[in-house]
Amino acid sequence: MENLRVLVVDDEEDFVETIVKRLKGRGLQAAGVTSGQDALDLLETRDFDVIVLDVKMPRMDGIQTLKEIKKRKPLTEVIMLTGHGSVDSGIKGLQLGAYNYIMKPVPLDELLKQVGQAYERKLIEEGRLGSTGTVSE
Ligand SMILES: [Mg+2]
Repeated sequence: MENLRVLVVDDEEDFVETIVKRLKGRGLQAAGVTSGQDALDLLETRDFDVIVLDVKMPRMDGIQTLKEIKKRKPLTEVIMLTGHGSVDSGIKGLQLGAYNYIMKPVPLDELLKQVGQAYERKLIEEGRLGSTGTVSE
């Protein structure tokens, strides 16, 4: 997982800082931004394997951001972060191609597990796993 590149997108700056620090602590390459537009701007120059995306953000919300990410980087996996009042958006996210959604507050181990699984799906979709036995067909 040490080459796994994760982008955290959330309008709460403290949250982004904390999660990025913890992901780095677990050996992942993590970066963070605090708006959907900043995420799209960063994707112009950097690739990420998994994007952890807050649903509730001012201006461009998580759903709008997800649509734009999937247009630009269809293979990048996205995990939506929802609150109690925004589970519907998480489900909408799944319909728009998100890997999964997680309810805040996010337990780090759960987030890491989801990020790892999303990354595996990305590898499979990129056809990189080939004969490792992970793909059954
Ligand atoms: Mg938010």
